[in-house]
Amino acid sequence: MGLLFMGKPLAWEDSIPYLEYIREHGITQFLYLWDRFKDREGDTLLWGDEVEYMLLSFDAEAKNAKLSLHQTEILANLQSLATDICSHTRGDPTSVPTFHPESGSYMLEGTPGSPYTGSVLDLLSVERNMRNRRKLVRAELMAHEAVVTITSFPRLGSPGVFTDPYYDPSHAQSSHSLFLPDEITSAHVRFPTLMANIRRRRGSKVAINVPIFFDVNTPRPFVDPTIPYDRRIFPEDPEAMNGAALPDHIYLDATEFGMGCSCLQITFQACNVDEARRAYDALVPVGPIMLALTAASPAYRGYLADVDCRWSVIAASTDDRTEEERGLKPLRHNKHVIPKSRYDSVDLYISKDLKNRPEYNDIFVPYDEDIYKRLTTHGIDTLLSKHVAHLFIRDPLAVFSDRIELDDIACSDHFESIQSTNWQTLRFKISPPKSPIGWRVEFRSMEVQITDFENAAFSVFILLLSRAILSFGLNFYVPISKVDENMQRAQQRGAATQQKFFFRKRIYPAEPRHSTPSEVPAPSERSSATINSLNIHGPFADISNGIETNGHGDGKYVNGHEERGDKYEEMTMAEIINGKGNEFPGLLGVVNAYLNSLNMEFESKQRMRAYMALVKRRADGSLKTCATWIREFIRSHPAYKHDSVISEEINFDLMKALDEIERGMRVAHDLLPTDYVGSKIDDGCL
Ligand code: ADP
Ligand code: MG
Ligand code: MG
Ligand code: MG
Ligand code: MG
Ligand code: MG
Repeated sequence: MGLLFMGKPLAWEDSIPYLEYIREHGITQFLYLWDRFKDREGDTLLWGDEVEYMLLSFDAEAKNAKLSLHQTEILANLQSLATDICSHTRGDPTSVPTFHPESGSYMLEGTPGSPYTGSVLDLLSVERNMRNRRKLVRAELMAHEAVVTITSFPRLGSPGVFTDPYYDPSHAQSSHSLFLPDEITSAHVRFPTLMANIRRRRGSKVAINVPIFFDVNTPRPFVDPTIPYDRRIFPEDPEAMNGAALPDHIYLDATEFGMGCSCLQITFQACNVDEARRAYDALVPVGPIMLALTAASPAYRGYLADVDCRWSVIAASTDDRTEEERGLKPLRHNKHVIPKSRYDSVDLYISKDLKNRPEYNDIFVPYDEDIYKRLTTHGIDTLLSKHVAHLFIRDPLAVFSDRIELDDIACSDHFESIQSTNWQTLRFKISPPKSPIGWRVEFRSMEVQITDFENAAFSVFILLLSRAILSFGLNFYVPISKVDENMQRAQQRGAATQQKFFFRKRIYPAEPRHSTPSEVPAPSERSSATINSLNIHGPFADISNGIETNGHGDGKYVNGHEERGDKYEEMTMAEIINGKGNEFPGLLGVVNAYLNSLNMEFESKQRMRAYMALVKRRADGSLKTCATWIREFIRSHPAYKHDSVISEEINFDLMKALDEIERGMRVAHDLLPTDYVGSKIDDGCL
């Protein structure tokens, strides 16, 4: 979530005189970091997850599940609990999970207290670590409250009472929303500032239109009767009537509708900058695939949507582009027409690897020419210069009056101010000043799952995939326009079983003549130096740069240049994950090959197999995605009128059901494996 210091944030108009200064010094700060860290070598694998939680409050009498707006108190209690645990157990404070504020005042984010290492033991501790976090939060709740990991709360912004305590949306000074009170937003100063500044910079409220799911009784055309079209409190109130709210859609008008969704993120450290760039690129095409596979958000503002994912909602909810930047008016005050919101999919591959052919970067990417010149003049290669110069077409969204003139050597605030508000599917993270942390890659597209079993399974899967990519030197490149097309497909209802996605057919650096899924090239000898560990670095730079042919070359690779011709095709999710024919092993195929190369105890292997089986079964459709399960629960509820409306009662029963599933008190054999054991079983955590 980036910077979280306190201080006095400037209103948008007051921050305008400083924007250019912050951009300029942000680049100065980046250049200092670059000089310090560009040759940094030998960092080991460290990694961690981020899980976002929602706090609920159940009113059993009224059959209403509300969002409990108690982030501040719960965070404070968790903080003192952590201090307590450490002093009583004389434990290592870093072993106590860390909780952060998230954008909604009903949200928390939890991470491991210190990152996991590359050991198999740590791989096995992920789920326990996640469960422990949930348990710590639960200990702070009252009897009628719950903590759940759901991506979108179905009745956020619906008529009636959806928060505890209740607040009236007609006083929403920072969002001017028709539906949400300001109290829905975290009291942490960063969040209301971001929201107000997105609206002010854009020049209007954000307008998000999610296609409605037409059920048999949904009126056509669908004109939402719950929008207060004739409210006249804030100047933007008429926008809904004047075209911002589209028919046949669920209209959302505030940043919190998107930022208030939860997700699951993974960050891992690379041994050096080039390895980080390779891993980043390889995971770009994986972003939409995992979005579709983890789909978990089919409902918004009391209605069933025709999409299963949050991504476009959050992209539109943070869209601070002016009309000029959106191409609606000729450029006069702004420099660039910008095709995407600052929350969206990656625009550029950045690896210097020869596999990264220029034609893969095939979409229009506006960038700041002066910054680009400054970076290249400093000696930074054109790809990375363009990446940074592209991030820096955005304005800082939160300027703090006491943090403007800074020591550019000791601080990276201005760089991070822009870097951390470019919310893309992947984030390429540079070391902070004065820190032992190396180059990192963050994988950001996944939706949070109902149970920690699933959250651990997908986290471990991505971590292992990143190891397989680096140790086998895999090539996942497809033109980035195809990745963007996949992002759209990934969000469609039922995408995991209904859609096809562009994916690369040949993923090994040199294609063995008779490659079969069981014949994936073994990791280099050099990896066996770390037999019981997942640490892979250094030496693999050689085999994964596309030049070496591993002795299997069949002439298709000459000095790293592959021959022309279609290297990708449309595949189903089952094919992409589980493999297709003899040619394509699937992402699970390469992960399994990697797992087989590790020296693991039987029990550890069983656990890994359980995780991989979940991924496999979600991909082949024998288990439902969370989104499909939630949609079907709603549609088969006795009180559902087949009109797309999710009533308080339906929502109440759904939230109860999700909490019970997580605890293992309710079976869901179409969602989870039959041997799923919920958190009602006390596994002896803190
Ligand atoms: P952000 O919100 O900016 O993505 P967080 O601090 O919330 O960052 O989460 C970062 C994740 O990275 C956490 O899971 C943390 O455990 C993990 N992490 C911390 N240090 C390292 C490191 N050196 N290398 C890789 N991951 C790390
Ligand atoms: Mg993050
Ligand atoms: Mg977060
Ligand atoms: Mg975070
Ligand atoms: Mg952070
Ligand atoms: Mg978030």
